[in-house]
Amino acid sequence: MHQRITSEIFQVAGGELTSPEDAAAYLIRFKDHAALVDAGCGYAMDRMLENIESCGVSPEQVEILFLTHCHFDHTGGAKAFRDRTGCRIIVHQADAVYLEAADNEVTAASWYGSVITGFKADRLIRGDRETVELGGKFIEAVHTPGHSPGSAVYLTESDGLTVLFGQDVHGPLDRRLLSDHGEYVKSLHRMIDMEADILCEGHFGVFKGKDRVKRFIRRFL
Ligand SMILES: [Zn+2]
Ligand SMILES: [Zn+2]
Repeated sequence: MHQRITSEIFQVAGGELTSPEDAAAYLIRFKDHAALVDAGCGYAMDRMLENIESCGVSPEQVEILFLTHCHFDHTGGAKAFRDRTGCRIIVHQADAVYLEAADNEVTAASWYGSVITGFKADRLIRGDRETVELGGKFIEAVHTPGHSPGSAVYLTESDGLTVLFGQDVHGPLDRRLLSDHGEYVKSLHRMIDMEADILCEGHFGVFKGKDRVKRFIRRFL
């Protein structure tokens, strides 16, 4: 089961697709090369792998797992997913430290009554913007702190449309998650300026059309 977003992008986890605690996970397929954005809690890994296959992609084809931030509903399944597929994990360095240290509070695993399995990422986003190549196309990582210190969004183009993987655009902000309101507001403005045609969010679904995308982001200003 999956939900098609463009001819190359599909939602494969979140809600009814896997487990209700999971944030959305999105599959990108550029020619024979694939990547996943976020990996859910890991409670329904087999279903997520089946959903990936339902898009015509074998899990071994997934070369990269892009993490939008360290929270458990996006990363609890990351290590198991890498073990199963051999992919490389990419995450911003400011959140990587909490994944490596298996910090159950900052990763919010304790909110889910769970524990995070610590892991080291394979590539860290260190700067403000970095470009990653997949199947001859490009995916841009942009640091958008606020919800967490190392939150990042990923931007790419598919079917001539600009697609923004924004995930927890909506927050929440919480001191225990090391959220920062000033940074969050700056990041929201930054996302609005990206002029995305499609926003793939972590918990609110997929927004299509520049105006609908901007309207959704503005709700949190
Ligand atoms: Zn989330
Ligand atoms: Zn989050």
